[in-house]
Amino acid sequence: MGSGSKILGFIGVLGVMASSLAFVLFSGKEVPMVGLLAPVFAAAPERVELRVLKQDQTLGELLEGMLEPNDDQYDLVLAFMERADPRRLRPGTEVAFRRFTAAPSELRAVDIAVDADLTLRMTPSPAGWRSSVMTTPVVTDTVWVSGEIQTTLWEAVTGSDNREGLDPRNLNQFFMDLNDIFQWQVDFSRDIRSGDFFRFSYERAVRPDGTMRRGHVLSAELVNRGRSYQAVWFDPNGDGNGTYYDEDGNSVRLRFLRSPIEYRRISSGFSNSRFHPILQTWRAHRGTDYAASRGTPVRATGNGVVIERERHSTYGNTIVVRHSNGWTTRYAHMNGFAPGIRVGSAVDQSDLIGYVGMTGLATGPHLHYEMRQYGTFKDPETIQLPPGDPVPIEQWEVWETQSRARLALLDRLPLPWEVRLAVNVLGEGDAPAAGAR
Ligand SMILES: [Zn+2]
Repeated sequence: MGSGSKILGFIGVLGVMASSLAFVLFSGKEVPMVGLLAPVFAAAPERVELRVLKQDQTLGELLEGMLEPNDDQYDLVLAFMERADPRRLRPGTEVAFRRFTAAPSELRAVDIAVDADLTLRMTPSPAGWRSSVMTTPVVTDTVWVSGEIQTTLWEAVTGSDNREGLDPRNLNQFFMDLNDIFQWQVDFSRDIRSGDFFRFSYERAVRPDGTMRRGHVLSAELVNRGRSYQAVWFDPNGDGNGTYYDEDGNSVRLRFLRSPIEYRRISSGFSNSRFHPILQTWRAHRGTDYAASRGTPVRATGNGVVIERERHSTYGNTIVVRHSNGWTTRYAHMNGFAPGIRVGSAVDQSDLIGYVGMTGLATGPHLHYEMRQYGTFKDPETIQLPPGDPVPIEQWEVWETQSRARLALLDRLPLPWEVRLAVNVLGEGDAPAAGAR
């Protein structure tokens, strides 16, 4: 473990698909070439002083001493408030003071980078400060990445010494994404083997200053122990709430998560008769107890609506979620409820609903979790979880076109990877993999 771990990675960029013709001088930095056009501005006759908002510093405090003697910083803050809330600026926010280089070097504008995609430009005028919006132009492109796992996925991320210049934070996020997509097929903590292989494509937006915003993973493949799993992003309703389907249009997700909390230890399983430690009697335990430290996030295991949110004498702080097809899930003994969760709230799978605690009848912090269908208790540990919905029939034509294009992105990866993989897998005596799919 350790020194030998590395990820053999490959990253490329597919065609630049959309571009904005406008370039702005952003934060006084060099504008890199992100499109096909050369920057259209000449060197600005100005000098830029950059200040960064410190922890607990207000915008007014940052402005102090930076403005012209006859300018009141609160006028500027007031103008800023017409478009954004200065109290919501985060520490690290960049404020650029632009001054004419010619004497007298008076202030020309103050740019406040509200977030990565929005900068407010404050301009002095005889009638006071004015604000205008500078939206950062972005270029959207498609990136594809592939790699072979040498030890574990986590080692591949953190111990990598051959990342081909990839930002480690990005790699980390990629693996979170892969885990998210393939968690139903593969247990990443137990099933990953040396020689496993992945490839995926994703959308990204590149800003003129070179920073990026990652979009969805569009398509992904994981070859685990010689078996190939594929997933394609598809948004049937076009409302941004898409999900992943396999190459046949079946959901890669199940209707329920296997467990409502991560990194758990099962302290008491489903049983029709067990000795209750507090009640000192034998009674059925028709759920699963997950021991976890107080405050551990509890997640809704499936999409649904909250139908109970109450403090119960035995269950303590309890939430019951109603799902489709007669399913309900119950989460009990919680320390507290997540903000905004009340009776009638719609929740999506994996949404935070509360925190582990020991309210009600409980000897230690744990989550009591129940599943029922049409009122009948099911054992959460052993139940065969129902699959998520497939691509809707009425969207089938759109799906076919989009999924073909998105899966084809994966085939842009260089052949040697598949050759290497086939050799590895065959060498271990397993079935042929990707190439033989
Ligand atoms: Zn229990």
